[in-house]
Amino acid sequence: MSIRQMAAGALYAVTRSSMMSCLEELDQLQWLSEDELTARQQRWLGRVLEYANTYVPYYRDLFIEIGFHPNDFVTQPDCFTDLPLLTKDAVRQNHDRLVTTEPARQDSLIKAKTGGTTGEPIWFVQDRVYDDYRVAHNFFQMEWSGWRLGQPEGRLWGHVLTGDAGKKSIVTRLKERLVGRFHSNAFHMTPESMEQFAAQLEKRPDAVVWSYVSTMYRFAQFVQERGRPIRLHAVYTAAEPLYEYHREFIAGVFDCPVFNSYSSVETGDIACECDRHDGLHIMMRNCYLEVLRDGRPVPDGQEGEFVITNLTNLAFPLIRYQIEDGGVRRGAGCPCGRGLPVLEVAEGRVIDFFKTRDRGRVWGAFLVPMIPTLGQIKQYQIVQTSLDQIVIRIVRGGFVDEARFSEIQRACAVALGENVQVAFEYVDRLPSTPTGKHRYVVSEVEPDHL
Ligand SMILES: [Zn+2]
Repeated sequence: MSIRQMAAGALYAVTRSSMMSCLEELDQLQWLSEDELTARQQRWLGRVLEYANTYVPYYRDLFIEIGFHPNDFVTQPDCFTDLPLLTKDAVRQNHDRLVTTEPARQDSLIKAKTGGTTGEPIWFVQDRVYDDYRVAHNFFQMEWSGWRLGQPEGRLWGHVLTGDAGKKSIVTRLKERLVGRFHSNAFHMTPESMEQFAAQLEKRPDAVVWSYVSTMYRFAQFVQERGRPIRLHAVYTAAEPLYEYHREFIAGVFDCPVFNSYSSVETGDIACECDRHDGLHIMMRNCYLEVLRDGRPVPDGQEGEFVITNLTNLAFPLIRYQIEDGGVRRGAGCPCGRGLPVLEVAEGRVIDFFKTRDRGRVWGAFLVPMIPTLGQIKQYQIVQTSLDQIVIRIVRGGFVDEARFSEIQRACAVALGENVQVAFEYVDRLPSTPTGKHRYVVSEVEPDHL
């Protein structure tokens, strides 16, 4: 163990001992069997229901209205699926009634909001316990790459918490230096900021870097063009689908493995890849995840909509929250030996559906792997501007094979209809969203135009 690692461990033990206890708990839980973890989750879930019934007005009223009592769950766990789903709109409309009224918890409440990539932002509240688990989960996931506390951590990230989150005290900066943490703002990436970040990484081949998929991909292109190799310990990506071409390119540039993760601002960490990179292990201490189709649970292996109950944020309980993502739960059985079941997340979130004249709705994902093969493309966005037109905006990084544009035209004619014309535009930059999520396919056609 290096001196830095010992110093970081000692610092966290003094300043964030409760977070360190969470990390220790996570380290132990991962090796329990899936059955044992499921049994424990039922207890954590029971505690959330009981707490919500006692301290959270929204749930107290709801439970009375539907005739549910948390004791019912203890004797008959299946009744959980009779509870109504919580939509994003319901969270917006009932915000104040979803906040805990427990007096002891009032002084540790932190207000936060989502980036609102797919609509209005959602305000919610977190408490100290949640924050301890949030930080612990972050470290816990990094440990899966062999990283240890005190090893450098770079973040190419944006600020999602409001208020003074962007401003840092001298103490915070000193602490960050001691534990080996450094940042670059993903919302304002310029050649200068990327150069600065690259220079910081050059000296730290044992660093792990966290980033959004599209920003890390862009940064990797910058590093490749810059010509001086940078080696990293591992890259962790979040918030956007990680396609195979992203993974291969980032892994190649930094000569390290890429770990994909799945989380949301309002629920925290949901799942992350282990070193086998075959699906994402569910963070069972943080989330109870259901997979539903037509409102009913589907067996493992079948695709459905994800519904999430957070288990660590009593300040603002989200029970059966519709996160508007979906995919397949596979259960445990990963060769790594962890009891945490594995999840495959469908990649629909940043890819819209196209509306067509006579073929219904067509998922835009079919075009996504084709565009990067056209040449040196830094970024792109596919926009359906009308029922008859697709515009592909490209930020060029070098040669683009325009002779192959006709392949894209043909693919669109086959998938969307002969009426559809494809136009290509070169642009300097593409709009970014507040969470840094890049929308690959956007449809501007309203459903009532159908
Ligand atoms: Zn595994």
